[in-house]
Amino acid sequence: MAKLSITGGGRCNLTNTFRNVQSLEKIYPRGFRLMKRLLHKFSQTDCMNWFEDLGVRLIEQEDQCVFPRSQDAMEVVHALERAMHEGGVHVKCGCKVSSIDPDLTVTFTQNKSCSTIKPDAVILTSGGATADLLSGTDISIEQAVPSLFTLKLEDEEIKKLMGTVVQKAVLSLQGTRFRSEGTLLITDWGVSGPATLCLSSYAARYLCENGYRGTLSINWLSANEDEAKELLDQLGKSSTRTIGNSHPQKLTERLWKHLLTRAGVRDDLRWKELGSKGYSRLINTLINDCYTIIGRARFKEEFVTCGGVSLSEINPETMECKKIPGLYLAGEVLDIDAVTGGFNLQAAWSTAWTAAHSII
Ligand SMILES: Cc1cc2nc3c(=O)[nH]c(=O)nc-3n(C[C@H](O)[C@H](O)[C@H](O)COP(=O)(O)OP(=O)(O)OC[C@H]3O[C@@H](n4cnc5c(N)ncnc54)[C@H](O)[C@@H]3O)c2cc1C
Repeated sequence: MAKLSITGGGRCNLTNTFRNVQSLEKIYPRGFRLMKRLLHKFSQTDCMNWFEDLGVRLIEQEDQCVFPRSQDAMEVVHALERAMHEGGVHVKCGCKVSSIDPDLTVTFTQNKSCSTIKPDAVILTSGGATADLLSGTDISIEQAVPSLFTLKLEDEEIKKLMGTVVQKAVLSLQGTRFRSEGTLLITDWGVSGPATLCLSSYAARYLCENGYRGTLSINWLSANEDEAKELLDQLGKSSTRTIGNSHPQKLTERLWKHLLTRAGVRDDLRWKELGSKGYSRLINTLINDCYTIIGRARFKEEFVTCGGVSLSEINPETMECKKIPGLYLAGEVLDIDAVTGGFNLQAAWSTAWTAAHSII
């Protein structure tokens, strides 16, 4: 509950309308097949109705993220607490589970004393990077690595543009198929914003294996070569001003000047003075501008874990563990995670609902 109270910057982005979702694979880099099934059982609409029935009035933002109308995550926490109380759920606080054995014996400590219980069924919802609670079993676990982070870049010049936003840029990691599109924010350490977070999610494991080093390619125009040429040709035709003073509409003047410098094009030139080599360099910089990645920085709003209990271990109809009947898993302890936007909590609700109803 403490974690829930800080979600969405204290506002709790509890789900998403999914109206802008074209492919679940892009939303759930890990677990999209399972989520496709589970959303038929407990969808975003079911989630919204469930919370509204508990008295939490909701609001959908323009970006399709759903929040409590009160903009207060504690309202969601209190609603869940009320539902548990009314449902006769007995909550034991201050217990730390240390292991779950194949015969469902749960060992936990409370006030420094160790106890065990052996219930008929267990639902494990211990969150990201906690799958080692099952290390005494032969359940396979995908290594836990961080997802949803921002990227530190080596180049000092780009960091001077801190605060600059490009509404639609395409990011990719050179030499890989990882690619994301969306709003890009330049920060004083490198890049952030939805496009960066998406890329970090898609490439979470790859970046971890490579020590958070690599080459980031930015397509500032989100355009292919022909479209970029057309745009520059239009600018050249319609402007009598210097190149530095006639930037594409979607790029700020400061960013444009930075890109001209990177392309080795003087900003006091007139368009007709731009030779073919300068023209090619400028096109290349606009659609494939490469920066060295030197690390990752934590995203302050949200982060999740990629990895956890392998989904092949779970019966997708019930969320029951195939090897340990009576053990159910839900939430981030599983190898499911999503990009930002309320999709991670939706995964927690859908998996938990399915597990609980299977037990009932
Ligand atoms: C700062 C932040 C903001 C976020 N904001 C959003 C958002 O707005 N929208 C969204 O969709 N997602 C958000 N997320 C992601 C989302 O919070 C998680 O995906 C979601 O909480 C996972 O739910 P869970 O129940 O699986 O795990 P958790 O919420 O992590 O809960 C796990 C619980 O298990 C307990 N636990 C762990 N180990 C043990 C143990 N050994 N013994 C006993 N108890 C244990 C923990 O104390 C915790 O209470 C955010 C994440 C962070 C970190």
